Amino acid sequence: MYTVKTDLHTHTLFSGHAFSTIGENVAQAVRKGLEAIGMADHYSPLFLPQRQGGFPDWGPIMNMAALPKVIDGVRVLASVEIDLVDFEGHPACWNLPCPFTPPGAEPDTVAGRLLRSRDYAIASFHGFPGAGEGTAAQYTEMYCGALRNPLIHILGHPCRPGFPFDLEEVIRTAKETGKMLEINDHSFDSPEHIQNACRQLAIRCAEEEVPIVVSSDAHSAWFVGEFDRALTMLQEISFPERLIANRTLASFQEQLEKIPGRIL
Ligand SMILES: [Zn+2]
Ligand SMILES: [Zn+2]
Repeated sequence: MYTVKTDLHTHTLFSGHAFSTIGENVAQAVRKGLEAIGMADHYSPLFLPQRQGGFPDWGPIMNMAALPKVIDGVRVLASVEIDLVDFEGHPACWNLPCPFTPPGAEPDTVAGRLLRSRDYAIASFHGFPGAGEGTAAQYTEMYCGALRNPLIHILGHPCRPGFPFDLEEVIRTAKETGKMLEINDHSFDSPEHIQNACRQLAIRCAEEEVPIVVSSDAHSAWFVGEFDRALTMLQEISFPERLIANRTLASFQEQLEKIPGRIL
């Protein structure tokens, strides 16, 4: 079985529908022997209350300076799971001017301010008005648009929504942009056809040498570092371990540095 020492996709109470604090998640990471966890709370108009100015409240997401970078020996990485909000693959609040510009900083959008402050960013689809009526070409462009965004590094659970998209085009775009595709353990709670789609994605990533990350998507501390179902599937297809970018903190950082034109 593979060893995966980082869990890059975990949620805290701040996500609005998760159950644990960062302290509880870290305590579980220590128990599991992880080197790092990513605090990847949702940034989503669906899950967070709106604040004045018409954008979701980012609460503690933007206050990572109040947290130690290492807690009980576990590196806590600043991330976010930002929603894709249209068929072009834009992240939430991509065109909303940010009302908080620190002294001396350039004006930015809400998404820009948030994403530029992350160690890495995950973008996922959870729905937006009209999203149910898309075509395969539109869902493909949504994912490819997100992958081309220099501020986004990982495409979160692309197979879980269950809509059709051109896997080959998404794999090609991930390869061109150096981005990572996620195999999310939580997707194995989904129906069999979704699980099969995850397997197919992993098979093509292996063949095309596209790196993946394996994540728990834990919404409570008990699931931090739980990737057994994802790893079993990868084992079944003899997925090359070296393409699991987050097997260690160092291997993940190395993969991030390989992204051409990376801004962060
Ligand atoms: Zn998600
Ligand atoms: Zn998530």
